[in-house]
Amino acid sequence: MSFASLGLSAPILKALDHKGYKTPSPIQAQAIPVVLEGRDLLAAAQTGTGKTAGFTLPLLELLSQTQKAGPKQVRALILTPTRELAAQIADNISAYSKYLPLKSTVVFGGVGIGPQITTLRRGIDILVATPGRLLDLHQQNAVSFHGLEILVLDEADRMLDMGFIHDIKRILKLLPAKRQNLLFSATFSPEIRTLAHGLLHNAAEVSV
Ligand code: AMP
Repeated sequence: MSFASLGLSAPILKALDHKGYKTPSPIQAQAIPVVLEGRDLLAAAQTGTGKTAGFTLPLLELLSQTQKAGPKQVRALILTPTRELAAQIADNISAYSKYLPLKSTVVFGGVGIGPQITTLRRGIDILVATPGRLLDLHQQNAVSFHGLEILVLDEADRMLDMGFIHDIKRILKLLPAKRQNLLFSATFSPEIRTLAHGLLHNAAEVSV
């Protein structure tokens, strides 16, 4: 099994080569083809399984296949519970998209909002965010979701544990109805099942 056989193209394969990744991990082998098909995904995977590349690699592939003319809009939104996770995901995206003309940034609370507003106004394709700060930025008209194509909820169980469900519901109401949804969670509690039921359509389920 190789990354090329999963359907990823040259600029991403080159970046993976630079990272020293040789073969896809099980979650990557299962998730990447499903996401590339445009399907919704419900994935059970812990940290350390390579789940971040499991959603970021196909997301980058899909966005790079259809470049958009005009000012950049947020095309993919990744929600995650903590600033550490957000920063890690953003670092991964920067590495994997090194040879792609896609711009990404990360926003989280506890730091000044001004520089985040400036970065967002310049236009980005991929936004990694914690829920509270994203809502603050939206209230300040710093971000619009009209061009959103893909939503990822990462560590969804932790987001619920940390009390983010109301923020998530508010964010979901701001998004275009027609979009691809990916939900990653370490555990599938009844609450996660309920969230998944409301969010996902005809989802593939993968588990490692
Ligand atoms: P994650 O579970 O997404 O937090 O990833 C765990 C660690 O594995 C990270 O340091 C990744 O950079 C690394 N990693 C992810 N996928 C692969 C792969 N296919 N081969 C080697 N390392 C990987």
